[in-house]
Amino acid sequence: RPPAPSWPGSAAAELRAAQDLEFRQQRYPQALAAYGRALEAVAAREARGEILLAISRVQRKAGSLQAAIGVCETLSRDYVQVRTAAGIPLGPTATLELGSLHLETGDSLQALATDVELYGSLVGGAWALERAQFDFIAAEVREAITRILSGMSSVDQVQAHSDSFAELREEEGARRIRTERLHAFQERAGGELHARRIRSTSGVDGAGRTFVLESGGELYLISLLPGGEGDEGDEGPWGLLLDGDHLRDGVLLPALEEHAGRAAAGWVVRGRGGGSILASDEAPVGSGTLTTTFSEDFPPWLLALHEEPQSPYRRLFLSSQSVYFYMFLLIASILVFGLILTIRAVSHELELARMKSDFVSTVSHEFKSPLTSIRQLAEMLQAGRVPSQERRQEYYGVLVEQSSRLSALVANILDLARMEEGKKEFRFELSDVEALLEEVLSTTRHRVSHTGFAIQCVVDEPLPRVMADRDAISQAVSNLLDNAVKYSGEARSVNVRAFVSDTWVTVAVEDFGVGIPGEEIDRVFDRFYRGGDALTRSVKGSGLGLTLVKQVVEAHGGEVQVESAPDHGSTFSIRLPTAKEESRA
Ligand code: ADP
Repeated sequence: RPPAPSWPGSAAAELRAAQDLEFRQQRYPQALAAYGRALEAVAAREARGEILLAISRVQRKAGSLQAAIGVCETLSRDYVQVRTAAGIPLGPTATLELGSLHLETGDSLQALATDVELYGSLVGGAWALERAQFDFIAAEVREAITRILSGMSSVDQVQAHSDSFAELREEEGARRIRTERLHAFQERAGGELHARRIRSTSGVDGAGRTFVLESGGELYLISLLPGGEGDEGDEGPWGLLLDGDHLRDGVLLPALEEHAGRAAAGWVVRGRGGGSILASDEAPVGSGTLTTTFSEDFPPWLLALHEEPQSPYRRLFLSSQSVYFYMFLLIASILVFGLILTIRAVSHELELARMKSDFVSTVSHEFKSPLTSIRQLAEMLQAGRVPSQERRQEYYGVLVEQSSRLSALVANILDLARMEEGKKEFRFELSDVEALLEEVLSTTRHRVSHTGFAIQCVVDEPLPRVMADRDAISQAVSNLLDNAVKYSGEARSVNVRAFVSDTWVTVAVEDFGVGIPGEEIDRVFDRFYRGGDALTRSVKGSGLGLTLVKQVVEAHGGEVQVESAPDHGSTFSIRLPTAKEESRA
């Protein structure tokens, strides 16, 4: 090649003369001297390197191998990255020559070491070589190494070199694949990238951006680094080849399943051409569809989310009209609540009115019948129409009984009225329950003597006294006895028991009559309440007896209990606290 024009004139002339001596005349010592003069005439490293390489070549041809080795060593040490004006990389070229010189001197091991090291540097990318250069030098080195290895017995040192050679070959293969990809990228996407880059440097498309380029079925993540073209430190664009399958199955799918799966009924990811790349299990339904792109550093795909079809109720709840709906619900529930309250109050009033009218009719009847019989008997007696003394005596008895019934009724009504008004005053005094019982029993026995009732009374001795209003308690016990007789049906016996337990004195009245159904038992103490069937109601009554019992007993700090079984009878018990003085005694 003619020397580069930048060479000084004398050097260029010397070089031409040396090349002539070397190649045409093959006069090596003269050629060496000429190269030496040329070397002295130049200062540029690439020129000096090129001349040194020529010197080692001539030395070798002249047979002075050691001198050639020395020069090559200098080159491979001090000119590693220098290239000749024609672009030949001095580092690898000189090293390749060095290996071959070692071999020629017979030092195969040194040759092997040199070549393996050179191969390592090549594969490791120590030089930025053009493809053809790399291919050429790599082929030469591989061939030299293979040749040396085949002629050597496998001692340890050789084995080590042989192993690293094998490793390096593999690595070279891998690097080639990467390089192939880069080439493919350059071919496919280079144009587009270049267009973008021009826009980027002209400021339209900001530098420093990262975006994904899809080209030839491959995805590339590209980043444009800042800095204008030709500037120092302009590192240019770099690119990553993206693994599309991983991006789709390893990144996008889990993310969509987690996030989109919750919000939408179905989703689908489409590529540029509209083909489906990924889709949810559920086929997208419904008209509401939202379509969106991903950010720039993601492939240019489209994500379509399909809205879940909403039920009309759900829509109503979520829409802006829901305020009215909730207000409507509120008002409706207030109305219903008010209606229920009203119905309850009205029905309670109606029931009370019914009970009151029942009361009036039964009470007037209660008054009427004893009054009628009293009047009839009294008139007969007045007119002297009862001749026999015995009959007269019997009539007097009936008069007494009927009038006492009347007065009991009146007493009940009045007492209750007073109690309800809170005007009833009790006169508490230490009272003997047994004596009180005897009194009430004898009156009752007398009253029912003609009906054939047997009223037994058992008193556990001795009963402590209680603080009580005697008249009131007598009336309560008397009411219980009256009821026992009234609701005995066919039965003709009533038992009265009085006993002490703890600090209580209990008087229990037991009958064997119609009994009370379970559902009525809580109501029998209500005012005007009259229970039982039509047959029971045919028994005369006011619905006030038990109310009075309860009020009286509770005013004494006691309580009334009832046990009953329909058709077997009932037991009403009055429990009164024993007087403090008595318990102390
Ligand atoms: P009255 O007896 O005047 O109807 P009460 O207040 O004394 O009113 O009794 C209320 C209701 O309790 C009665 O109508 C009756 O149905 C029921 N009852 C009271 N005592 C008895 C009893 N010993 N056996 C069965 N039912 C009874």
